Amino acid sequence: MNTLAVFGIENIEQEWAQTVLNVLLLVAAVLYLALIFWTFADARRRIDDPLLVACATLASFFPFVGTIVYLIVRPPEFLDDVRLRELEMTAAEARLANLDYHLCPHCDYEVQSDYLRCPSCMRKLKERCYSCSKPIDPAWRICPFCEAETSAPSPSASSTRRRRRQTTDQSTVAAETLEPETAEASAGETSRRRRR
Ligand SMILES: [Zn+2]
Ligand SMILES: [Zn+2]
Repeated sequence: MNTLAVFGIENIEQEWAQTVLNVLLLVAAVLYLALIFWTFADARRRIDDPLLVACATLASFFPFVGTIVYLIVRPPEFLDDVRLRELEMTAAEARLANLDYHLCPHCDYEVQSDYLRCPSCMRKLKERCYSCSKPIDPAWRICPFCEAETSAPSPSASSTRRRRRQTTDQSTVAAETLEPETAEASAGETSRRRRR
């Protein structure tokens, strides 16, 4: 009787142990599969290259350690965040362009589109139209404001313009600063900038 009872208890204990082990194994298996799926989903949101996503998913098949390694080496940002940031950068650049924001091609100082001369390095940025005196780009063939042809100005203006172009090309801008008209203009521009 006693031995039978002892055997019975032992059997029950063995069955319990077996059940607990099975449950633990099942939990581990579910966790393992869930981690593989999570690694795949997370990699797809962070990595652009499908091959690298496949590699990350394959690594997660190595139980638990693969996912931990992936957590260490994964890119810190979501692709959506990266795209959003790039969009914001482009929008900010466009806003700056609309605000008449330009940089001097010689010294990167902040200038405006109607500046004749850079206030920082004093180099020539724009010519003055001989007809309407508006600032125009030396590369333009006509003045967009008064339609005067810039290539065929009046004889006296032509010689000054040519001389100015030559001096700009040779970068001997300092001598030119003493010309009263342009010095006055750039001073005006600078004070206008300060007032803003
Ligand atoms: Zn400059
Ligand atoms: Zn003009």
